Parts: sequence; structure tokens; C-alpha cells
Amino acid sequence: MDAERSRRYLDVMGVPVWRLRSADADTPGPEQGPEAVAPLACQGDVMASDPVDLADAGVELSPEATPDAVPAAGIAGADWERLSEAVSSCRACELCATRTQTVFGEGNRRADLMIVGEAPGADEDRQGEPFVGRAGQLLNLMLAAIGLEREQVFIANILKCRPPGNRDPRSEETLRCEPYLMRQIALVHPRVLLSVGRISAQKLLRTDVPIGKLRGRWFTFGPDDIPMTVTYHPAYLLRSPEQKSKAWQDLLKVTRRLRGTAGKPGVEAAGRSV
Ligand code: URA
Repeated sequence: MDAERSRRYLDVMGVPVWRLRSADADTPGPEQGPEAVAPLACQGDVMASDPVDLADAGVELSPEATPDAVPAAGIAGADWERLSEAVSSCRACELCATRTQTVFGEGNRRADLMIVGEAPGADEDRQGEPFVGRAGQLLNLMLAAIGLEREQVFIANILKCRPPGNRDPRSEETLRCEPYLMRQIALVHPRVLLSVGRISAQKLLRTDVPIGKLRGRWFTFGPDDIPMTVTYHPAYLLRSPEQKSKAWQDLLKVTRRLRGTAGKPGVEAAGRSV
């Protein structure tokens, strides 16, 4: 993307344009240095996440759910079609009673960048697509600012169904929905996983560490050690625009990682074609 176009997007995002021209923005960050070519291993109370087997986790079924509705068993090796069917017919938690429809996720199934949000909101529940409301529009702008079209990335959520009133996901709901996301991540196998928002980051990393301490750092995720980083949720950025410059710094790190990992000259080349 040319500098002028990028500046226009940043302007719309509300990120001060001077940041793009600053030495910080153009100078390779420490994550590009030799000591950080491999993503940081997780330490202390910030842990890499492994897929959870619901049976091992001893999860009880909700009254509405039937035993064969437990998702984990059937989907570990599922292809996209089976996975999508399993999600759309899922009744493993009580959210199936209040949803309009499930929100599977969408985008390039061979994307270099995969984004994981929290859960569908009212717009997403209505349309069946992730990030289509105001937060989604900002997410699109954020992607455009680093030279990516929405269609080049894969976008999913921790939960596939909307929690009533947009309340936080409950642990039980997350546990039951988790195998779907784990399978999506395994199938996409992105070069970078970008977790947006506190809930997504804390659930994926299995930690209570505040998002302010998680964002901008590199973790490895799951059995494939996928490089993962965290930034603020676009809905939060709409409420707290003064944090947009930090999100911009996080996005630049993603861009550098995509460039470095892919060995390609620019972010425009970051999305693999289907
Ligand atoms: N917020 C999310 O986290 N995900 C969506 O899909 C929409 C809003």
C-alpha cells in the first residue's frame, strides 16, 4: 500500500498521522532481531494454549444438550464442511436457545493472518458473519492500514453464538466452543494469530493477566507453536480512541512478523491466495 493511502486509513482510524512517519514506525522492532526470530515462549502465568478435550475436562452437558452434541469428539479431524455443519447444528450450551444463528467465521482459509475476537454481537447474530458491526468496520480499517483486505485474513471468535445482551462468555460456554476454534486454527494454520480484546487474549492464553500487559508481546500458541500476539478490541478502541496509537504499534509488529516469516518484501503479499 502506498504511503498516502495508508495515511488516509490511519486518519479515519483516528491514529495521529505523525506516528507513521516516526522513526519508531519505520525502524524494525526488537521482534525482528535475531534473538527474537522465533516467537517468545510463554512464561510464568502466561501460558501457551493447548486444545482442550471436553471429555478429559469433565464438562457436564446442559439440560438442552444431547450427548452427541459434545463437539470435541467428532471434530478433531474434521474438514471445513464437517466443521461448519457441526457449528451450525451445535447445541452444546445454552446459547443455542437464544442465538438467531451461529457465526462460524469467514475469510481466506489459507490466510497468513488469523484474527480471533470474542463473540458475535447483535449485528453478527443477525447476519451470521463475524465483525460486521461498528467494531467490524474499524477492524476493516485497521487491516487496510497495514495493506490487507478483510478477505485476505480469516476472522473467527472464541464463541460461535451471541451471549444474550453481549455479556462476557462463561467458562463453560468457552470450553464447549473451544474445539471448533482449535480446529479452525489447525486448518488455517496461519503464520500469525492476532487475538483482539481482553476476553480473546485471556481465554486463548489461559491467563488473567490484564490486556495492557499482554498486548504487543509475542506468544506461541497450541501444538503448532503458531506465533500469536494481542491487541485491543476494535469496540474498545471506539470507546477509547486514545488507545488507537498503541493498537497501531501492535499492527506494525504483526506486519513485520508477516514480512519476516514470509520472507516477502511487503505486507501486500502477506495474504496467501485460496
Ligand atoms: N466483537 C467480536 O469480538 N466479534 C465479533 O464478531 C463482533 C464483535
